[in-house]
Amino acid sequence: MNQLTKVLHIDLSKRSFHVEDRGDLFQYYLGGAGVGINLLNENCPEGADPLGLDNPIIFAVGPLVGLYPLASKTVAMFKSPLTGNLGESHAGGRSSVSIRSAGYGAIVIKGKSSTPVYLSITDEGARFRDASGFWGVVNSVTVGRIVRELETGSGMRTIMRIGGAGERMVKYACVTTETYRHFGRLGLGAVFGSKLLKAICISGNHSVDVSDPSIYRKTYDEIYKKAVDSPLMKKYHDYGTAANIVPLNLLKGLPAKNLTSASDPEAESISGEHLAEAYLGRRIACAHCPVACIHIAALREPYEKELFFYKTKMIPYDYELIYSLGSMLGVFDPDGMLELIEEVEIYGMDAMSSGVVLAWATEAYMNGLVSSEDTLGLDFKWGNTEAYLQAIEHIVKQPNEFYTALASGVEAASMRYGGAEYAMAFGKNEMPGYHTGAAAHIGHLVGSRHSHLDTAGYSLDQKILKGQEMTDEEIVEALLAEEAWRQVLSSLVICFFARGLYSPELVVRALETAGHKVDETGLNRLGLEILREKNRFKMREGFDPLNIRIPKRVFETKSSRGVIKEETIRDAIRGYFEKLAL
Ligand code: SF4
Repeated sequence: MNQLTKVLHIDLSKRSFHVEDRGDLFQYYLGGAGVGINLLNENCPEGADPLGLDNPIIFAVGPLVGLYPLASKTVAMFKSPLTGNLGESHAGGRSSVSIRSAGYGAIVIKGKSSTPVYLSITDEGARFRDASGFWGVVNSVTVGRIVRELETGSGMRTIMRIGGAGERMVKYACVTTETYRHFGRLGLGAVFGSKLLKAICISGNHSVDVSDPSIYRKTYDEIYKKAVDSPLMKKYHDYGTAANIVPLNLLKGLPAKNLTSASDPEAESISGEHLAEAYLGRRIACAHCPVACIHIAALREPYEKELFFYKTKMIPYDYELIYSLGSMLGVFDPDGMLELIEEVEIYGMDAMSSGVVLAWATEAYMNGLVSSEDTLGLDFKWGNTEAYLQAIEHIVKQPNEFYTALASGVEAASMRYGGAEYAMAFGKNEMPGYHTGAAAHIGHLVGSRHSHLDTAGYSLDQKILKGQEMTDEEIVEALLAEEAWRQVLSSLVICFFARGLYSPELVVRALETAGHKVDETGLNRLGLEILREKNRFKMREGFDPLNIRIPKRVFETKSSRGVIKEETIRDAIRGYFEKLAL
């Protein structure tokens, strides 16, 4: 049996598991997002409480995992506690190769444990291990170390875990996998916390067969060569996505101080170039990736009472983290920004949501909507790193109503305290770092995850700025085509940084060596079908695109392409869903 057809079902309430062959799903939907949304539909009852025992956690990988470079992501699907509808998050590290090496294509986790637990998953199924001894350890890095000590098995291994934010069910808590990789967005960490699930260790040593080794070798070499020769990949290797800070700042598309402006004269100090020169400690890569785009800063700090005695913290950074915990908060001191990144890393919170929530809180405080009694004396003002560091701890511990509101996301906080016009969320998900023009925001609003990764509308804006002419209708068509194709890539769990390498024609050839015969037309049809299924799930759970809230700030602050009109955006949303034809 092709090992990718196996689905491991785990019931935390009954502490039982079984394995099911789902060749039907994997043959048709390939893996990843396609299989994930179907398993979510099968296992998540309509109206399920995202933090209740009915909400399933799905992990799915794809047929190219372990075979080709950059097929390195695991797709997680769940009902999001942040938005109340589709929760989808992708992470790399060693997760996908470990799941496949353990012999599974997908894992479904249901129910709720009665006591803190961690799962040890191998090709023999799941073992339920007591996590009471380290429930309460808030540092996600420490949790990883503890599980590593406890699980002494061999083979390719991944350790997924939550920190304090997941335990306290902060609605944008993340799941950290290995160190520095995350199922970041939409609150998977809170779902873990609601199930008293502290960690999952998955290990395996199965190999993967190919249909024709000589064709496989040739195809592999072609993909590998493209990956290491590509100038774009070199850019990701040299500076990472942080290289985008300077160009977006020059284009006036970098949100700063809660999007009260779209550039800042101090942005250079937190640029990828500056961080690479002054802080870069090392680069790391996901399993089976020659690019190594993950940049880790080395931040040296003196021990309090010792002269010339330092400790060095290793802190990951990329564009979205720099935007959300740097420019969005007016923090242009790189040391301070890195400390904030480290703080959310420790507690296991989505950095983008954390930064956007704090940016709203700063403006709400400055406007008098919240008092110093609410903030527990913290003086929220742009660039006040110390206050933000303490606020992050308060968001996790939730000592009063205000911080509980912040832990629920910016949409919920603004519903309670006001300031919705500058609560920067789309579909209740905190905004990504692009104010390049209408295409970026249409993409955030219609994208199935409300993420910049759904449609990459920001790149359309930049093409238009460079002179490409596009009507509003053509923008909508391009966003839809891009998001549909990304469903194929995320069913194959190919890293989106490699989307330029994996052309449709190359995907067809690679899939053939993995035992799938499908042509380009079939792939495009499948992408659209998966996109429709995701949107049907969202609507089943109450999402209404035609009445989506758009923060007024989007229309007030001039973007790279000028002032954005609400009418343009609303028309585009309507046009997108008409074309999607659910
Ligand atoms: S390009 Fe970066 S994120 Fe993508 S697989 Fe490689 S190391 Fe991971």
